[in-house]
Formats: sequence, C-alpha cells, structure tokens
Amino acid sequence: MKKLFALSLLVAASCQTLVVASDFPVKDKPVTIVVPFVAGGPTDRVARDLAEAMRKPLGTTVVVENVAGAGGTIGANKVAKAPQDGHTVLLHHIGMATSPALYRKMPYNTMDDFEFLGMVNEVPMTLIGRPTLPANNFKELVTWIGQNKGKINLANAGLGAASHLCGLMFQQAVKTDMTTVPYKGTAPAMNDLMGGQVDLLCDQTTNTSSQIEGKTVKAFAVTTMKRLTTPALKDLPTLNEAGLKDFNVSIWHGMYAPKGTPAETVAKLNAALRAALKDPEFIKKQEALGAVVVTDKRTDGAEHKKFVAAEIAKWGPVIKAAGEYAD
Ligand code: ASP
Repeated sequence: MKKLFALSLLVAASCQTLVVASDFPVKDKPVTIVVPFVAGGPTDRVARDLAEAMRKPLGTTVVVENVAGAGGTIGANKVAKAPQDGHTVLLHHIGMATSPALYRKMPYNTMDDFEFLGMVNEVPMTLIGRPTLPANNFKELVTWIGQNKGKINLANAGLGAASHLCGLMFQQAVKTDMTTVPYKGTAPAMNDLMGGQVDLLCDQTTNTSSQIEGKTVKAFAVTTMKRLTTPALKDLPTLNEAGLKDFNVSIWHGMYAPKGTPAETVAKLNAALRAALKDPEFIKKQEALGAVVVTDKRTDGAEHKKFVAAEIAKWGPVIKAAGEYAD
C-alpha cells in the first residue's frame, strides 16, 4: 500500500513537471511583442514581420503592442516589469545600448533586467531631407547647412533612439548644431519630413527605402562604410566617401524577455526566434528593405548579451563626449 502511495506521488510529481514544462505558451493566450516606438515605423515593421514568422514555431498568436516614448525607454521598462511568463517580450534596437549613457536615471538596468533572447537583424541608416530642400546631393547639402546655421531642424525618435544617435554623430561630423525635434517614433517624423515641417532625418532603411524609391524625400547618403546593394539604395554614396571620414552607424534589433522568465520558456522563445530568422519570407522582406537578418552565433541569447555589453562600451564614450543626456 505504502509502495503504491509512493508510486502515485511519483506519478503526480512527474505530471506536475510535465504541466510546468508545457505551460508556455498558454493555450489561446497570445505572445505580445512590445515595440517601444509608434506603429508604422521601422522597429514596428520588423516586429510585425517577425510576429508573422514566429506564429507557427510558437504555436500561438503573436501580436504587436506599441508602447512609445522617451526614446524607447518607456516600452523597454514595461517589458522589464512584465509578468515573467514569456507572453510579453520586447523588440528593441541599438537604443538598448545607447540609453544607459543618455539617461542619468534609467528606470531599468539593460544588462540585469532582461533575459536576452537573441539578435534579429542589422540595418543601415540613411540621411534624408524634405522634398523641398534646395540641395540635390551631399555636397550641396553641406553648402546649404553652412548657409543655414541656427535654422536647421533635425527630426528624431527621442533621446536614445537610433535616429538620435545618427543625428548626434552627423551634427558632430559637420560641426553644426541643429534643433532636434523629437517624435515617438520615426513614422510621424517621416510624415513631417515629407510635409516639409522638418529639414533632415537619419533613419533606418526599413523606413526610408520606399520613400527614397518613390522620391517623396531627398536621399543624401548611407551611414555604413560600404554602399548598399538594395536596388532602391545602391546609388547612394556612403557618408565616409562623401567626406565625413569614418562615419559608420549600423543599427541592430534584438529580442528580450523580463528577467526571471523560466529557462525553458526562454529556450522556446529563442527556438521560435531562430526559426523565424530562417523563414525565407521573413528574410526576403527584410532584404528588400536593406536589412540583413542575423545568422551567426548572436542569435543565441548569451552571445547577444555579450554583443550588447560591447555596444554599451562602444557608444557610451561617443555619447558622453557629445555631452548629451536626459534626467
Ligand atoms: N527608427 C526609430 C529610431 O530612430 C524608431 C522607430 O520609430 O522605429 O530609433
């Protein structure tokens, strides 16, 4: 009898283990990808393509929620404090690494408050201007900047956004301070640029390539050391070859869960992310927009974490030297 009782305890225990193991995803409960910028922008675009590609490997619905503001730190903070059940994850970009240097008081700790799920892609940026801007190439732009010092507006998605970092480096390179106009993402910044309310914007190709192709904005250069091969962007010079020596900003996206999410759930999310990164449809969509899907070891959470640590070390001094910060 005793033996039977012990056996049933054992069965119960292993059943319980089984229940825990298969707990994620909870049936009929979606996984929410939080994007820390408004809908319609480049980070949102990557997230929506990723949501579609992760649906099948996760076996549940994947939705996108835009939690915008403060250069991405509001959305990131929401995920840092979310339930640790795998159903809320963050898709963020280089802002994960630049925010710690920009904000004196961060609401979360980038390295300690997340489980790193893996890196997604690398995306070059482009320097673009309003369609009515008199300059037609980078040389003419430099002349125009020289003639309009003190009057130039440069849009961005807030302190800590990729557009902010790129704009900061650009102002330093051309030795000109511009009035920065922060938005909650570069989708509305792009609208105002097309409408002529702001002069310049530096943004990911995932947001700018179709506007460049449609000539609704003026494109001056790409921010990487090598020219791009994407048809819409292949004729653009690099800022380096146009005269801003060594100018090089390429941004990346990664995925994160709240710290304390069970290892098994993290492994399931990572496996679904890796499957999505191999999805030919996802790769095709990203490549058409000038993004390169990551296939190397940084798709592993621990490796991506090492990469983010190196990015924090790389960008911190650049930002501090520029004297930019927010309280
Ligand atoms: N591209 C934006 C940035 O400057 C963010 C976004 O709207 O996706 O970081």
